[in-house]
Amino acid sequence: LNRRLAEFGTTIFAEMSALAVRTGAINLGQGFPDTDGPEEVREAAVRALRDGRGNQYPPGPGIPELRTAVAAHQERFYGHLGVSCDPDTEVLVTAGATEAIAASLLALLEPGDEVIALEPYYDSYAACIAMAGGTRVPVTLRPDPESGSYALDLDELRDAVTDRTRLILLNTPHNPTGTVLTRDALAEVARLACERELLVITDEVYEHLVFEGEHLPLASFPGMRERTVTIGSAGKTFSFTGWKVGWVTATPELVGAVRSAKQFLTYVSAGPFQYAVAEALALPDSYYTGLRDDLRAKRDILATGLTDAGFQVFRPSGTYFITTDIRPLGFDDGFAFCRTLPERAGVVAIPNAVFYDHQDQGAPFVRFAFCKQEKTLLEAVTRLQRL
Ligand code: PMP
Ligand code: GLN
Repeated sequence: LNRRLAEFGTTIFAEMSALAVRTGAINLGQGFPDTDGPEEVREAAVRALRDGRGNQYPPGPGIPELRTAVAAHQERFYGHLGVSCDPDTEVLVTAGATEAIAASLLALLEPGDEVIALEPYYDSYAACIAMAGGTRVPVTLRPDPESGSYALDLDELRDAVTDRTRLILLNTPHNPTGTVLTRDALAEVARLACERELLVITDEVYEHLVFEGEHLPLASFPGMRERTVTIGSAGKTFSFTGWKVGWVTATPELVGAVRSAKQFLTYVSAGPFQYAVAEALALPDSYYTGLRDDLRAKRDILATGLTDAGFQVFRPSGTYFITTDIRPLGFDDGFAFCRTLPERAGVVAIPNAVFYDHQDQGAPFVRFAFCKQEKTLLEAVTRLQRL
């Protein structure tokens, strides 16, 4: 294994899900729903397979039906904010958001370029920046026990920009903290990007999982259309994480660049699922609000249960994750806590330290996923209250 990758080892999600299988513990670690998405969307995939649609290499940028559906989705949800994209030149279908992140970084970075990422960050960011030869520059989101959430210090962000900064890798709603960046914070990111001529890759895979307030795409801010690569995922929006269908929207120039990398990573993304996701994107608004309301109720169950169990809970405004502080329970090392939690309580969680360069900053925090059936969450909470 080369030096660029050696420091990353095995992803924490694989490690913790294997631990859950081995111990039979409830898996609130890796973020995947324990019920599949809509039946009619599954049927659409079956139909596509059976009818021979997408069983041979689909077009490189994605099938036209899906690109059109992505453009229509952007228009439906963000048209009032001025967002639009041309399905032929401004949409690229990828193998999940994971490939979109990798291809964007590989396409846009020169070796030695600096990339600012909000810490804690989703684990593939660091590895992909490294594979692209970039240097990551973390800007730490700080927990604020008063407000019960995490916040971005805009001065710190501004100070992190140097002459070598090429881009900001943003994520809102934010995994693992559940923070939804405010309009003011996004406006400031946009101002900074324009001033310093930076690109922004914005990972908005949890765009429909916002429980308070609304999701504001960074691309809708003044001056950002030209410099933003926006990433979405059917895994999150339709609860089919195994299908690995994601997409990038950006200007023709940026989409073209990302496609240059994507063509040599996977060439194209799996065909039949693209037909199904095209149908899913056209589901009525009630689907999207239903998903959000369902997860909001689950957030409340888990947040209340964890609070009652003695955790300090950072109540998420978005995503399907809750970050907690374990110090009130008498622990301060999230790694040790998570490695023994299956044995002690029959529950698996993720130590947030894996999402940090400054591991000490993340040490006492642990993430729980709530994209699970209500009865599973209630059982997990009962077990944790016996800790
Ligand atoms: N970005 C973030 C912030 C995520 O949480 C995830 C899902 N784990 C991904 C990207 C990857 O998405 P996908 O499964 O579509 O590759
Ligand atoms: N995005 C999910 C999480 O953060 C799962 C990621 C993965 O398994 N790669 O837990």
